Amino acid sequence: MPKKYLNYIDGEWCPAESGEWFENRNPARWSEVVGLFPKSDSRDVDRAVKAAKAAFKKWRLVPAPERGAILKTAGDIMVERKEALAQDMTREMGKVLTETRGDVQEAIDTFYYAAVEGRRLFSHTAPSEMRNKMNMSFRIPIGVAGLITPWNFPMAIPSWKSLPALVCGNTVVFKPASDTPLSSEHLVEILTEAGIPPGVMNIVHGGGGSVGTSIVDHPDVNLISFTGSSEIGKQINSRAGAKLKRVSLELGGKNAQIVMDDADLELAIEGTLWGAFGTTGQRCTATSRLILHENIHDKYIEMLLDATSRLTVGDGLDESNKVGPAINEGQRNIVHDYVEIGKKEGAELICGGHPLTDGKNSDGWFYAPTIFSGVTQKMRIFKEEIFGPVLSVIKVKDFAQAVEVHNDCIYGLSSSIYTRNVNNAFRAIRDLEAGITYVNGPTIGAECHMPFGGVKETGNGHREGGWPVYEFYSEIKTVYVDFSEKLQRAQIDNY
Ligand code: NAP
Repeated sequence: MPKKYLNYIDGEWCPAESGEWFENRNPARWSEVVGLFPKSDSRDVDRAVKAAKAAFKKWRLVPAPERGAILKTAGDIMVERKEALAQDMTREMGKVLTETRGDVQEAIDTFYYAAVEGRRLFSHTAPSEMRNKMNMSFRIPIGVAGLITPWNFPMAIPSWKSLPALVCGNTVVFKPASDTPLSSEHLVEILTEAGIPPGVMNIVHGGGGSVGTSIVDHPDVNLISFTGSSEIGKQINSRAGAKLKRVSLELGGKNAQIVMDDADLELAIEGTLWGAFGTTGQRCTATSRLILHENIHDKYIEMLLDATSRLTVGDGLDESNKVGPAINEGQRNIVHDYVEIGKKEGAELICGGHPLTDGKNSDGWFYAPTIFSGVTQKMRIFKEEIFGPVLSVIKVKDFAQAVEVHNDCIYGLSSSIYTRNVNNAFRAIRDLEAGITYVNGPTIGAECHMPFGGVKETGNGHREGGWPVYEFYSEIKTVYVDFSEKLQRAQIDNY
């Protein structure tokens, strides 16, 4: 019988009100049930929000450095458990161990960064226009934060949201993706062991349509931070927006790597492989478009096919494998549907294009790393996020066309250019429409202390990571102190 995991509400581990459970399965070995999780609904959300609202009264008064100290302790616990956490994450999510170790490390880095931010949370002071008066501002917490996360970074993304929320003095109701509840459960376990008080951090497992919407709609949830698809993000934005909740949305991407004819091609190839096929292409920052200068196009394709042929696909727990499975059958079907669409649209399938179902891979949702060349801007495989190991190659004649092709996209998350021309590198930094630009690096590689997010339909202008996320999780209180002992009227008495 698989292990049963629980919700964590008001300092207690508890089953769902429904008494029902859902399965968490291993995408590399679908017959393996990793665990059973509570199938919660609006009743569980309501209990969690009530607990979080009550706990907020005390938590907001805990000094921020003390809040940070709990996160530091939690980070230390996570360091000790890093390998076990990575193994569990590979079992529930499929990506290879090197990558899940990186996912856990990102959470550790975020713990330590947030812990120190507890001593900063800077605000501004400014001179007053009146005598004997001081002007200042403070960051104050907002209340109950509702956090909803996807499955592709099961520990990094929940940590990006929950730790800044907590150190800023908010309390949390958190719903992880149904495909990866175990890593989130581990994150909450570690926080409780580190001493987070009851009610401050709550996790409610269950489906997006039930638990997710209940969090978004709950009148006592003051802010929503969501990472996931643009489709769901738009729905959440209108529901939460109607109640004037603060909303941060980190959504889809269709990122491109540009390779100019003066680039270090060996280096660029390494970047393409990591960007396109790392995490089986299931990253919001994955390289799904490759824009090649015509002078190196044919040679680059040849090098790329050779390098791709050496990628081993299989169970991520076997360290000889470089690419794991798709997260589930539905996602693999979506990938294959796009491959069929690409073929019908007239792109040339030069590699992969089929599920891998033989031998050691027969029980998982594996798909061959796939490359299309001759892709044009009209094709759906050029425009739409596929979220799988499918790369579309577009040929361009010069830098200006590369930028034009890059920007012909409804999304704008990450971008990359490989070039040795310093002027073109700086033009790209200025002109590529994306929240992130890498020069001589692939489209993936975020660091937790730098802002992360995108433009256009990738989001609504907020950022995760770095200093801006602390602004999202706090309000500004402006304070004037008048010690003149008389009524001073701004804008009136001085003029
Ligand atoms: P998704 O289907 O939008 O789901 C994301 C989360 O929202 C899950 O927890 C899901 O719950 C929940 N959800 C589903 N329907 C909901 C609703 N009506 N109301 C509230 N919550 C709801 O996305 P995904 O398939 O997990 O993740 C892939 C997408 O995330 C891609 O588009 C990718 O680009 C994007 N992503 C973006 C970033 C970024 O930072 N920009 C990072 C990573 C991923 P269930 O799991 O229970 O369905």
